[in-house]
Amino acid sequence: MSQVPAEIAADTSLPAHTRVLIVGSGPAGYTAAVYAARAMLKPVLIQGMQPGGQLTITTEVENWPGETEIQGPDLMVRMEAHARAMGARIFVDTVTRLDLQQRPFVAELDSGARITADAVILATGAQARWLGLPSEEKFKGFGVSACATCDGFFYRGREVVVVGGGNTAVEEALFLTNFASKVTLIHRRDSLRAEKILQERLFRNPKVSVLWDHELVEVAGTDGPLGVTGVRVRHVREGAEQVVPADGVFIAIGHAPASELVKDQLELHKGGYVKVEPGSTRTSIPGVFAAGDLTDHVYRQAVTSAGMGCMAALDAERWLAEHDMAGEPVPEAAEIPA
Ligand code: NAP
Repeated sequence: MSQVPAEIAADTSLPAHTRVLIVGSGPAGYTAAVYAARAMLKPVLIQGMQPGGQLTITTEVENWPGETEIQGPDLMVRMEAHARAMGARIFVDTVTRLDLQQRPFVAELDSGARITADAVILATGAQARWLGLPSEEKFKGFGVSACATCDGFFYRGREVVVVGGGNTAVEEALFLTNFASKVTLIHRRDSLRAEKILQERLFRNPKVSVLWDHELVEVAGTDGPLGVTGVRVRHVREGAEQVVPADGVFIAIGHAPASELVKDQLELHKGGYVKVEPGSTRTSIPGVFAAGDLTDHVYRQAVTSAGMGCMAALDAERWLAEHDMAGEPVPEAAEIPA
């Protein structure tokens, strides 16, 4: 039986004001929404450009407790449904500007709408990192990709390379073996940082070969039509170069926090992660909380993000209860201890 209070279930238009605004729709955002809704705060969640976040572009997830194996997109559909069922108001829109200098906070959305909020939970996650080579840029979308689940299908019976040595790179390489005739993993060191269980699967797969101690120097291809023919790689110590033929190049070298919205307003550290008070989700502006990959440069797992989303909702609930939003001035921004 639905748990949704009738007046919330009926509410489908964006309100002018909310007590808690949640920005982002990965495990952190949806978990924050579940907790804030159950605290009767009627949270508003703005999904962003990729509803469901990074898990919507993965395949099997085997480390979400309670699910031996679940598809990433299915897990996110279930999280969204859960948040809605608890009474969260979820909108397909993107926050394009967030003003954290005035109270209530103000968010402007891509649709042109505007909403004010007493508290904000930031859960915008992270985006794929790129190598930064001009040739990589040139062939993006024409043979260079950062998403095997999105683009792998185009490489049926063809040869591809994957760059990186973490979980993402190994998962992408394994996924690509479903389509490609050969997958070469190019890694800059002589060991992978991916989980051992994934490494074992990779080494067992006859379609996969690993090129150790090499870095990608250039993506080679044709101009008419624009397309990739291979990659030039260099041995990191000996400097010797070679060309690996490939029709597709998948870059899987990690992720960078999506802190663009708040980079000039909140304290950041470690290359762009939103800094929070240790053991909490409190940022340098009181009333603004951060959870998940946007703030976590250590664990970066779906389950830890969800845990932080829970913490953010509890922190926001406590903070709102402690401050009378109608009158009492909120404390000034404070420096976060290292
Ligand atoms: P990651 O663990 O940070 O690994 C990035 C990889 O790219 C590393 O092997 C790194 O090499 C390499 N790299 C970084 N910069 C490079 C450059 N400029 N040139 C060449 N290689 C470069 O990133 P990730 O694999 O995206 O994973 C991110 C987080 O998500 C991790 O915590 C991971 O556990 C998690 N994740 C979990 C799962 C899962 O549990 N199923 C799946 C995907 C991701 P070095 O090793 O030499 O540093």
